[in-house]
Amino acid sequence: MIIERPSYYDNFKCIADKCDFTCCRDWTIAVDDCTFASWNDKKLPRQVAEANNMSLDQTLTSFVETHNESRRIVLDNGKCPFLDCNGLCHIVSQYGEECLSKTCHTYPREDIRFSEYELKNLTLSCKTVVKHLFDQSVFSVLSEKVSGDSFIDTEDEHCPNYLIELQQWLYTLVGEYKDVSAADILKAVFYILLDLIEQDIDDENEDKYQELIGLYKNSATIKKILDTITDPSSQTDSLDRFVEDNELLMDLFVRYYEQGKYSEFIKPVFEKAEELEGLIEDGVAIELYEKYVSEIGDKYEDKFKLIVAEELWSSLIVSYYDIETMAVKVQWLAIELALLKHYMFIHYTIYGHLTDEELIHIVAVLFRTTGYCDDDIIEYLEDCFEDIIWEWGYMDLII
Ligand code: SF4
Repeated sequence: MIIERPSYYDNFKCIADKCDFTCCRDWTIAVDDCTFASWNDKKLPRQVAEANNMSLDQTLTSFVETHNESRRIVLDNGKCPFLDCNGLCHIVSQYGEECLSKTCHTYPREDIRFSEYELKNLTLSCKTVVKHLFDQSVFSVLSEKVSGDSFIDTEDEHCPNYLIELQQWLYTLVGEYKDVSAADILKAVFYILLDLIEQDIDDENEDKYQELIGLYKNSATIKKILDTITDPSSQTDSLDRFVEDNELLMDLFVRYYEQGKYSEFIKPVFEKAEELEGLIEDGVAIELYEKYVSEIGDKYEDKFKLIVAEELWSSLIVSYYDIETMAVKVQWLAIELALLKHYMFIHYTIYGHLTDEELIHIVAVLFRTTGYCDDDIIEYLEDCFEDIIWEWGYMDLII
């Protein structure tokens, strides 16, 4: 078995009460069956009972509701009821860490398992994780071989070797092509996946896939693809991109805006995007955008590359195990990159500044709001696009 983790994985430590964007906020905190059963005989901590005018005889389950067949903690104005005013968890202080639900216990760590691999990842929805990532010059992975069985070894659930080869290779392109932007690397990755899809190879024909991937891995082939993508004569009009990214942002944020979630961040950004939409026709919106580009330039390009490399490593393989789903995940990453850049522009337009600390906050907000499960990503793409797999031109338009 091979266990991989980002080079900064072991340095992560939750900063708990010092965290100004705690994960207990505005989020769905799932309560698994095992935890729910154990909460049945655990009385509410005194402070929680008193703060909510409840009897001391009531149990922790009093704050659990069922939604879409799964259980979750009932939030009070977006806040976890077990959190005290100093940002510490009453469940931990009264019953210990082991009493937390799996979600709280493991966050922001997530284990991704396929074939003989276990990827130990840290999600970018936690600011402390983003800080660790941004401290790196290049995203790198530590790998160790340990004895143990493969995770999935049935005929129905087999992750083909060619997908593993792609997952192990694609993120390394970011570090290898230092002068190429994160967006252009992502476009090249999508180009390769689209080409593999278009070949319409039988899923069982692993040899054919391996042969084609071998051709792509040839540095002359990659260089040719990147040269075509970065050719100045084929660049997308910045107004078209602006209009599309502004719409994408409103589309993704409208649900949070209407529900008042993360309102401190989403509300001003969403309302500014609406205002900008009305300023497109007379050219004011694009003028503001060009001013932002001239002042900020590619100052944060290294950060985009770290994010793209980390996500290419951690998010490409999902349980459906096919090339189309891998392409879907690349599309989602492109949406996240487009939104991040557009969010940064709107933030700068509203406040007149964009500091490193603010960027870290924006990344964490963005990954909390776009951290959909795989089925939800597919549903979103089905609802919004004619075909779940885009034409290459749409990827080129948004990033
Ligand atoms: S967001 Fe990260 S640092 Fe903050 S409380 Fe949660 S795990 Fe800890």
